Amino acid sequence: MSGVVVVHGGAGVMRSLAGEQELAYREGLRAAAAAGRDALAQGADALEAAVVAVRSMEDSGVFNAGLGSCLDQDARYSLDASLMRGHDRAAGGVGAVTATYRAIDLCRSILDEGRHVLLVGPGADRRAQALGLPPLPDPPADKLATHAELQTKAQRVEDLGSVGRPDDDGAGDVGSDTVGAVVLDELGRCAAANSTGGLWLKLPGRVGDSALVGAGLFACDELGGAACTTGIGERMIRALTAKLACDALAQGASAQEAAEHAIADLERRFGPDSGGVIVVDGQGGVGAALNTRGMGRAVARVGDDAIPVAVWPDEGW
Ligand code: ASP
Repeated sequence: MSGVVVVHGGAGVMRSLAGEQELAYREGLRAAAAAGRDALAQGADALEAAVVAVRSMEDSGVFNAGLGSCLDQDARYSLDASLMRGHDRAAGGVGAVTATYRAIDLCRSILDEGRHVLLVGPGADRRAQALGLPPLPDPPADKLATHAELQTKAQRVEDLGSVGRPDDDGAGDVGSDTVGAVVLDELGRCAAANSTGGLWLKLPGRVGDSALVGAGLFACDELGGAACTTGIGERMIRALTAKLACDALAQGASAQEAAEHAIADLERRFGPDSGGVIVVDGQGGVGAALNTRGMGRAVARVGDDAIPVAVWPDEGW
């Protein structure tokens, strides 16, 4: 079996995606999928390839993760991330991190140590500093300007947890651009990784699905694959969307069917504009589904130079 890497760059209205920004977004997805694939080709396992792919997007500054993260209500960074290995369900997650933009490396150290699964707030920050992970810089002026603009628009958005509605140009696009990866390596082992700044204007201390096993991601070789979500975290937490997709794999669904099943469940419970999911199955099949206007995604296979990238629902990839 040859390895495969699927990445996502967040689900939402993607209102800010135009011109050069769209090119950078698509290139960031392509580069992340390529980095994960190249790691696999050089002998990395699924877990390491997932970390490599997500780190690439954290470092790019293009996505709502790592250097590109959004700001909370107090105009501060607060990052969530998680990582899971399929063969033994080892996992590491972090919530409300302020000390580093490399949240996925923090997850890796928690997973490797194995004592805990989730570290949040000051404890997670202390570990980031002890590991010498690079700090988050102060938010740049353009990000502070976006924060101020969204605060004005937020008065028009009924639900601050909304990822924005396509029919309301005045509403803030408060979600999207979170990143994630699901990977299957040549030995049939799977892994999933997520990283995000969360939702714009979220309350300080809020932790979303991206930190949480079962909601934001799940990976289990025995169930038959891995899944990773993006969108309104509160909904994924209540629906356990990633686990639901993996349970569908265990019942014989293909990766695409499992992704559609998980999003149909989200839609039924919470309505449209909730989010999206990417899935890889144990045979190297890949799937993606969304009920938002768009979701960036890319797939790269070891031994294949082509890396299809898509953003809109009916775009082939
Ligand atoms: N799921 C993320 C959160 O709620 C946001 C996103 O995927 O865009 O924190």
